[in-house]
Amino acid sequence: MGTKVWIKEKLLSKIIEETNLWIPVETGGMLVGYKDLAGDIVIANIIEGGDKAHRELDYFNPDTEFQQPKLSRIYKNSNSLVTYLGDWHSHPKSSAYMSKLDRKTMRRIVNKKTSMQANPIFLIIGTSPFEVKCWRYEELKKNNLNRLKIKLF
Ligand SMILES: [Zn+2]
Repeated sequence: MGTKVWIKEKLLSKIIEETNLWIPVETGGMLVGYKDLAGDIVIANIIEGGDKAHRELDYFNPDTEFQQPKLSRIYKNSNSLVTYLGDWHSHPKSSAYMSKLDRKTMRRIVNKKTSMQANPIFLIIGTSPFEVKCWRYEELKKNNLNRLKIKLF
C-alpha cells in the first residue's frame, strides 16, 4: 500500500529533458496538483523555475517572484483544487537522494506558513545513476522522509 505519486508521462519527459538541457548545473521547478480520493498525490502541472532562478553545480533555487503569480492563477482557475505540492530539481552528477541541503530546504517549506503545505514532496532526478525518486516530508518518519512510489499515467 502506501501513498503513490501520479505524474503524466509527458510531464516527466519534460522534466528529464530540462534536466539534460541544463547539465552540468542543477535546475528545477514547482509541482502543483491535488490529492485524489484514494489519498494519492496527482501532479497536474509544473511551474518553471524562471529565468532568474539560481542554477549552480550543486544548488538550485527557483525565482519565487516568477512562480507565485503563476501558482495563484492556477489555484484560482481550478477553484482551489490545484495547489502547491512541492518542487522538483535535478542532481546532474549524483543519484536522486535527499542531500543535507535538500532536507534543510524541505524543513524550511514546512515551517513557512505561506507555503500552506505541511507535507511537501521533492521529486529528484538523478543522472548518475539515472533515477527518479519522490520524497515526502512526514513528521513520524526517520529523517522526516518517506519515499513515495511514482506512477505514470
Ligand atoms: Zn538536491
